[in-house]
Parts: sequence; structure tokens; C-alpha cells
Amino acid sequence: MPAELPRTLLDALAHALPSGALLTTPADCLPYGYDNSKRDHPPQAVALPTAHPEVEALVQLCRRYRVPVTARGRGSNTTGASVPIDGGLVLSFERMNRILAINATDRYAVVEPGVLNGDLQTALAPHGFFWAPDPTSAPYSSIGGNLACNAGGLRTVKYGACRDNLLALRAVDGRGRGFRAGAAVTKNATGFDLARLLVGSEGTLALITEATLRLTPRAAARRGLRALYADVESAAAAVARLMAQAVLPAALEFMDGAALALVRARGAAVPDGAGAMLLFDAEGAADGIDAHVAALAEAARGPGLLEVAAARDQAELDSLWAARRALSPALRSVAPDKINEDVVVPVSRLPELVAAVAELGAAHRITTVCFGHAGNGNLHVNLMFDRSDPAQAVAAERCLDAVFDQVLALGGLLSGEHGIGIAKREHMARALDPVTLDLMRRIKAEFDPDGILNPGKLLPAADTAAPPSGR
Ligand SMILES: Cc1cc2nc3c(=O)[nH]c(=O)nc-3n(C[C@H](O)[C@H](O)[C@H](O)COP(=O)(O)OP(=O)(O)OC[C@H]3O[C@@H](n4cnc5c(N)ncnc54)[C@H](O)[C@@H]3O)c2cc1C
Repeated sequence: MPAELPRTLLDALAHALPSGALLTTPADCLPYGYDNSKRDHPPQAVALPTAHPEVEALVQLCRRYRVPVTARGRGSNTTGASVPIDGGLVLSFERMNRILAINATDRYAVVEPGVLNGDLQTALAPHGFFWAPDPTSAPYSSIGGNLACNAGGLRTVKYGACRDNLLALRAVDGRGRGFRAGAAVTKNATGFDLARLLVGSEGTLALITEATLRLTPRAAARRGLRALYADVESAAAAVARLMAQAVLPAALEFMDGAALALVRARGAAVPDGAGAMLLFDAEGAADGIDAHVAALAEAARGPGLLEVAAARDQAELDSLWAARRALSPALRSVAPDKINEDVVVPVSRLPELVAAVAELGAAHRITTVCFGHAGNGNLHVNLMFDRSDPAQAVAAERCLDAVFDQVLALGGLLSGEHGIGIAKREHMARALDPVTLDLMRRIKAEFDPDGILNPGKLLPAADTAAPPSGR
């Protein structure tokens, strides 16, 4: 892209927006050029629309001038998905942040994409409902960004991720055409499911301007449990047992010994000697909760168990989960250069993945820290290294490659919730077969014939061959 957008385009963009809603100075555009992947590239302009028709007009104008359009929620994604790598226009949804309706009878909410996940949950609480996707970033990530990444969180194991909790969307395609997909109904056999197709498409197919979300009633009772194991293999085997019985936990989180050491050093009350920990919740009716706790505790029992206990009250429950919440900040402070992947495998293969990551870390001399949403087989594999040491940086990349090989060999996929963005784009040809990739590219071309929506993300260039494994 040239350094500046044509003056005629800038004038037309400004005309399509409310006063003061087009930013063009480098200083104003700077904060819209980076995301939580630590990558950055400045856009040439930033639009802050307030309504759907403005988004249609902006995309039509950018299409006329073949200028890239990158949607932005709050930039909390970890894959570079919202970095405007080719410049152009960033379309930030921060001013489209109204909750338009909460309908308790039909169990749905209608929101604009810039509503923060946490703000929606707060608004739903008095109605006795919640929206199931609950990324740890809920206080500062947007519903539009959540949907575009198919975000999940602790509760996904029982209640599903974004794709499972969406009823309908309003959006704008790459030609600047507005359309609606789905409706506020919980059954729908009326043609292709375009609403869910957009979930996880990372702003490459269309821009979401309104979402109708499926709501879930809050459970009357919740009890948390903690199980400590001698080693990661025993804990991983317990995850498979917990998921193979009838009482589904409302969260099921895993932390390996290295993760436990980190939170212990930060003051979390985790006994010495434990090599791995599971945290899980029982949820249900007040008169059935004891039976749920008993069933989950029973499933947690097995070889390598050191102790399993349920929280007696809210304070104990909060302190159980405090250790999990302390982990991400602790990791960041000890290794700012870590690679954090969110691979996913069938739950029954989790023990093999956990063992393989430990072996690969040792073979490549890279410290690994693993934790994550074990009930979904979704493991956050952290490779800790110092980027200023070239040998360590190379070893970390090789180790990551080998981890991906292992994940794919176990029947898993590259990402369970963070998405692909730039970070894993070149690995897509390893994970998906050529026909699948070809179909995805054709769908992209139909939605966005000029390739202006978030170019360079998610789908690898057409001539990309699968990189050799063990690179
Ligand atoms: C500390 C921390 C914890 C996290 N924990 C979790 C977790 O538990 N689970 C999880 O899944 N993720 C987690 N994340 C990742 C991140 O928060 C999620 O991916 C989140 O959904 C991104 O939302 P956002 O509003 O920041 O979107 P952005 O990062 O701004 O954008 C993400 C993608 O969505 C696209 N997009 C944004 N808005 C729209 C729109 N209206 N229409 C079309 N495309 C759009 C962008 O172009 C981009 O491709 C975490 C991140 C951090 C920093």
C-alpha cells in the first residue's frame, strides 16, 4: 500500500461516518496497529462506526479503491489476527457497543459487536442468565472478536464455545452488502448455516455488525473441586475418566508441575509434592449438587491421586480458582518471549500429548509449561525461551513444529480457541487436506472477491505446500 490513502477516499470515508470518527494521523492510528501477539503494523486510517449502514458504506468505498479493511474488537487476540499487515483501514467496533435486547422468555440477547463480554455477563446476571463463552479476557474482549475467533473458556466443556451459543448474525460482506443469517430460534433447518460459518473466520469473510446470542440459565448451585496427582500422566488419565462418566463438569482445568511451581512461588496455596492438578466444578440444582460432587470425586480417584477435596464455601471456591487465574500473569513475568499454543486433541489422547510435550521439551532443551481446558482436550503448551539467544529461539521453533506433528498424529488440530491469524497460517496446509483448503479459499473468494477483508490471515497463500515436518 502507498504510505497515504487517496484524499478522495479519505474524504468519502469521513463523509460516511459521524464527525470525528475517522482517525488519520500516525499518532491516532498507532494504537490500532498491534494486538496481544506483540506484532504490529500501522493502518493508514481508523474508522469508528456507530451503525450498520456506515459499515456497508465503508466497505463499499474501500472495495472501490482496493484498500484492505481489518476489523478490530479490542486487540486481545494472540495470533496477529487484528494487525493490519497490509495497512489500509482498521474498522474498530468500539463505538458499536450497545446491548439491543435481552429476551428471557426466548433465551436470547441481541448485541452490537463492540459490547465487551464481561459487560454482557454483568447485564445478564440480574435476569438469571449468562452467555456461555467466557474467555479469561472477558473483561476486555468484545463479542465481535469472540465470535470471529470462536473463543471459548473455562465453561466450554459443558456449555460450548461461541459457535454453540449463537443464533443469528447481521454482517457486511467484502462487496459491502449487508445480510442477515439465522434467526432468534433454537432450531433452524433453513439452508446453509452462514451465521456459524462466520464464527472463527477472523474477519476474513464478513464484518459482524449485530449478533443474536443463545443464553443459558445460571445453575442454582456450584461447587468446586481440586485433585492433586503425583504426576501429569495420572492427572491426564483422570481427565479421560471424568469425561467418560455421566456428570459433566462445568469446568475441568489441568496444570502441570511447572505451572504449579509458578503459582506456588506467587503465593497460591498448592502443596509441595504434587506433580499436577485438576480443578473442576460441579453445577446443578441445589438438591442434586452433593451427588454431582460425589460422582466427580469418584471419577477423579485412581492411580497417582494424592488428594481430592471439594470447596466448602464461596471463599474456598474462589481460592481454588485463584491459582488458575494467577498462572497467565506469572508466565508472562518469567518468560515474556514464550510461545503459547492452544492445541487440541480428543480427550482420550490427552495423556499421550502431555507425555509427548514433556519428551519434546527435554529433547530440544526447552522448558515447557502446560495447562488448559483439559475437558476439551485443549492444552495451552508454553515453550519458555529467551529470544535474545538465537540458539534458544531456533530450538523453540523446532520444538513447536514437533509438538504440532504430535498433535496432528493424535487426531487433533492446531487451535482450540485462539485461532490462526498470522501465527499459524503457514501450518494450515499440514492440518487440513488440500480439498478442504481449496473449498475454504473458494468460500473466501465468494464473500470477498477482491480480497480486501483482513488479507494475509488464516488461509495460507494458494501456492503454500505443507511444510516438511520436523523442520
Ligand atoms: C490474558 C488473555 C487471556 C485470554 N484468554 C482466552 C480464553 O480463555 N479463551 C479464548 O478463546 N481466548 C482467550 N484470549 C484471546 C482473545 O481474548 C480472544 O481471541 C478474543 O475473542 C479476542 O477478542 P477481541 O475483541 O480482543 O478481538 P480482536 O483481537 O480485536 O480481533 C480478533 C479477530 O476478530 C476479528 N474481528 C473483531 N471484531 C470483528 C467483527 N465485528 N466482525 C468480524 N471480525 C471481527 C479481527 O479482525 C480479528 O481477526 C485471551 C487473551 C488474553 C490477552
